[in-house]
Amino acid sequence: MSYPRKLVLLGATGSIGESSLRVIRKHRDKLQLIGVSAFKNAAKVSSIAHEFGVSKVHLCQTPPENFQLPQVTELISGHQALLDLAAWEEADIVLIAVVGAAGLAPTLAALEAGKDVVLANKESLVVGGELVMETARRTGARILPADSEHNAVFQCLQGQPDKTLESLALTASGGPFRDWPVEKLNQVTPEQALKHPNWVMGPKITVDSATMANKGLELIEAKWLFELPPEKLHVLIHPPSVVHAIVQFKDGCSFAQMSPPCMTFALQNALLYPDRFEGVEEGIDLCNSLDLSFSPPDLCRYPCLKLAIDALVEKGCAPLVFNASNEMAVEAFLSNRIGFGDISNIIDRTLNLFEHRSFKSLEELLILDNEARTLAESLIVQVS
Ligand code: NDP
Ligand code: MG
Repeated sequence: MSYPRKLVLLGATGSIGESSLRVIRKHRDKLQLIGVSAFKNAAKVSSIAHEFGVSKVHLCQTPPENFQLPQVTELISGHQALLDLAAWEEADIVLIAVVGAAGLAPTLAALEAGKDVVLANKESLVVGGELVMETARRTGARILPADSEHNAVFQCLQGQPDKTLESLALTASGGPFRDWPVEKLNQVTPEQALKHPNWVMGPKITVDSATMANKGLELIEAKWLFELPPEKLHVLIHPPSVVHAIVQFKDGCSFAQMSPPCMTFALQNALLYPDRFEGVEEGIDLCNSLDLSFSPPDLCRYPCLKLAIDALVEKGCAPLVFNASNEMAVEAFLSNRIGFGDISNIIDRTLNLFEHRSFKSLEELLILDNEARTLAESLIVQVS
């Protein structure tokens, strides 16, 4: 694909949005931002529109009266307008940086239109992996993974013959409570959970990293992207977050990808694939000693990871129910309605009580997603 690449960035006001804007600023001759979306942050989206002169801005919520955009920018709203922006014929690449299952419909719209999709939103693959992969196959659209571990695997696979990947391991820092006594974990406050030792991220994924639900979601994401069965997908605790993933090929040789814990590396790789230009940040210092310690996770400390692995093995709508109940429980934890330890209990009980069924279409999926959220909310009310 030639330059400049025209880019639509959905979820521009979040943490991934910010890291993406840093990559675009660094490579203005190669990446041209033409459309952005946000949920409600009108001030930030207005400043992005002014800085980059984007043509279209989508907001889910009505902006305040003093909201201003450049004259060249069109403000759009409504669910269909978001899908139209994802499928806009002007765009070469669509970066999905929306948080949660809300990312699924725009991901499908972009893939249906044959766009290159840079996918940060892992939840869309967790809830609708089959629909997403089937749509990409049918239209020939490419999915370029931007989640750092999956981008690491993607990099390690370049130039390797097809069907030679044997297994892979995604690394995890273990979060801020890696060394806490397990019995103290229920006293964790939202403020403590929102302080990740290595990464600066949005609130939902930061809590997911503390519970390691995030790594569970990533295992399910990896299953769809790299077509491996559950027993060949592993997690390793690696506190410095320098190695992002390790792949092993059929001949027993393993490759790992390393870079500092900053999302600009993975995002730049996906946005400018397959080219490599100077990065936004310095790479790792090869003159100093590197901490390359790895250990398997303790599933008693991280029950959300265990539940996600069970959902991955069970298949059907279990990953969808895992994700929906996790999203509800994290929101309830962040608004002080439930404790940290309740997050895994809500997921566990929702998975147990839910009437599991298969689904074929996005419409059927959305019905199940809604039911799972309603059930999770009723369980949250009982706890809070
Ligand atoms: P943030 O919460 O920081 O940002 C979320 C973005 O999505 C914001 O622009 C927000 O708008 C918008 N948004 C929120 N809800 C909706 C909705 N219902 N419909 C449309 N847009 C919405 O999240 P992150 O940037 O941390 O994460 C984004 C995605 O990337 C997640 O799926 C996460 O798992 C994944 N990811 C994130 C990483 C990171 O380092 N942050 C690393 C790897 C993956 P507004 O600001 O107006 O609310
Ligand atoms: Mg990740």
